[in-house]
Amino acid sequence: MQSGTLELVCPAGNAAMLRAAVEAGADAVYLGLKNATNARHFPGLNFSPDELGASIAWAQQRGVRVFLAINTYPKEHNCSEWHRAIDHAAALGVDALILADLGLMAYARERFPELRLHASVQASATSAPALQLLARRFGVVRAVLPRVLSIDQVQQVARDAAPLEIEVFGFGGLCIMVEGRCSLSSYATGEAPNHQGACSPARFVSWEEKENGLEARLNGFLIDRYAPDEPAGYPTLCKGRFRVDGEIGYALESPTSLNTLDLLPQLKQCGVRAIKIEGRQRSVAYVRTVTQVWRRAIDALTANPERYTVQTAWQNELARISEGNQTTLGPYSRPWK
Ligand code: SF4
Repeated sequence: MQSGTLELVCPAGNAAMLRAAVEAGADAVYLGLKNATNARHFPGLNFSPDELGASIAWAQQRGVRVFLAINTYPKEHNCSEWHRAIDHAAALGVDALILADLGLMAYARERFPELRLHASVQASATSAPALQLLARRFGVVRAVLPRVLSIDQVQQVARDAAPLEIEVFGFGGLCIMVEGRCSLSSYATGEAPNHQGACSPARFVSWEEKENGLEARLNGFLIDRYAPDEPAGYPTLCKGRFRVDGEIGYALESPTSLNTLDLLPQLKQCGVRAIKIEGRQRSVAYVRTVTQVWRRAIDALTANPERYTVQTAWQNELARISEGNQTTLGPYSRPWK
């Protein structure tokens, strides 16, 4: 990849998704182990240690970098599992570790001084001083910015935190809370992405066909009720429909996907180094489609920045796989400010 071009970082929830991302044109993939050390600890996802080694080798042979997310927070009694994950990743030759916990950053930096460290979105670092501290103290070379900043704020942080590389989310599901600090799932189930690696863990989810529709519950809490012909979503608390002041609706956030194709030139001008695609919990087809579209967009921007325009075909492809079949610029655009 040429220096100065945007790096396309794609999700690999399993080996098939990794293959799809690489074949569709990802510059890098990010993935996790089959345990609570990563924030997408769902059944059927992620990599065993053996699968991880084979997948890293397969991707790297094709010139694609592999980043391992160890981006949950251990507790005092179980740090050793997170340390083992770091040791293992370093031994297998991952290109970078994506970390959130300061103790883990210190551990990785001391034991593996040559290993690239990226600050996870879960680290909740949203200001240049916070990022500079991570760079200075732990040698962090890249940070994934939480999805709470406007485009102006991204520009300011990228400028002030340089030479630290900035990675931002370009497409996918939104987390409305400052990442790493949401306790909604924990409130309902006792388990949350921050420590156990899963928001709304599948074992707490139940579906029941009732007289007035399909009910989706999380640990007994009614999250949504769907009419017979209405597409049903996964019951995540922030995207549930609740009764507020006598009216039922999306009280916190409606299901929608972030889509920043329109902002791509601006993000590049801001000094953003990499675009991250959300969705390790989605399907192989999702990964293939999103990666293909974003590959075309980044290549078009690189080839001719002045003539970059978002193609209708790209938007149509992305709309098909977006949550609620709709997209948003999310916090990047705040017209009311
Ligand atoms: S409940 Fe929503 S905002 Fe909170 S962690 Fe889960 S997806 Fe993110």
